[in-house]
Amino acid sequence: PGSISHPLVSKVRVVARVRPFLASEIAAKDGNPIPCVSVVDQDGPSTDEVMVHIKDHYTSRNECYKLDSFYGEEDDNVRNIFEREVKPLISGVLQGSNATVFAYGATGSGKTYTMQGTNKLPGLMPLAMANILSECDKAHATIEISYYEIYLERCYDLLELKLKEIAILDDQDGQIHLKGLVRVPVRSMSEFNEVFSNGIQRRRVAHTGLNDVSSRSHGVLVISVLTPCNDGDAATVVGKLNLIDLAGNEDNRKTGNEGVRLLESGKINQSLFTLSNVIYALNNNMPRVPYRESKLTRILQDSLGGTSSALMVACLNPGEYQEAVHTVGLAARSRHI
Ligand code: ADP
Ligand code: MG
Repeated sequence: PGSISHPLVSKVRVVARVRPFLASEIAAKDGNPIPCVSVVDQDGPSTDEVMVHIKDHYTSRNECYKLDSFYGEEDDNVRNIFEREVKPLISGVLQGSNATVFAYGATGSGKTYTMQGTNKLPGLMPLAMANILSECDKAHATIEISYYEIYLERCYDLLELKLKEIAILDDQDGQIHLKGLVRVPVRSMSEFNEVFSNGIQRRRVAHTGLNDVSSRSHGVLVISVLTPCNDGDAATVVGKLNLIDLAGNEDNRKTGNEGVRLLESGKINQSLFTLSNVIYALNNNMPRVPYRESKLTRILQDSLGGTSSALMVACLNPGEYQEAVHTVGLAARSRHI
């Protein structure tokens, strides 16, 4: 009695990841492309932040931005991001809080590679799943997954046989609820791979005709950890981890979008801008957090801020100076000052 409860202030970590040049990009530069992104070596005591240097080697324009960490192009760097950045979030989830990981960046910067990975080099989604499965096995908890996408501010369930729109409802206690969103129990990686790859496939098939919608919608995988079911009781969610492959943050001035494309990129930019404002507000302890200004942040309200932790991975193509400035600039802006 009389004790002051300290709200658990959770900052959103903002890190960058630069992918290697692809074979075609190397060939286009006569075998010797120069990456535009590097990290400035700092010998000082500050190990909790890095200075990212973006330099255009052809015009020598350059910009510097501070971020929390930087991951270079080594092969196993998803594993490094996983060990250093995502595992701490998972231990929170297993103790009952929520967490969110975002992959952010332009189309072609490596968001999907970072989140999904390949069969040989799994990304953050399968790595998180495998880790949670093994931890939950020890704790006898159960796991369910959901997978949905947000396209033009509408939410679609990707685990239904046919892509189905999901209503976003406010219930009485102010919680946001995705009405009828499917949650599929998962007991092993092979079950996960089957359910998830069907979802990925559905996302692709549902939009044929609309050229590559997946890069213009947000894809959200939710891993929910539930307490063991006692006889007759419904299992309750302990914590959940949201893993999000965000829509590409294209620069409209550069792409010259028109029509549907412009409408799409307007909505995408609005929701990415709101996300950045929400993270900025959380990182700077601002009294008002503008969750309601986009569907994505509204849905994630219970997983951003409060006792939840989050990570934003800004993905970068090493050959695109202007794009890198755009992405890192926005990422740095949402970090605390
Ligand atoms: P995005 O989802 O941001 O549009 P992708 O993840 O599809 O970008 O990546 C674009 C291309 O770069 C793909 O061919 C992908 O395989 C490749 N790529 C991305 N990141 C890496 C990486 N770290 N190592 C090797 N190839 C990568
Ligand atoms: Mg992608």
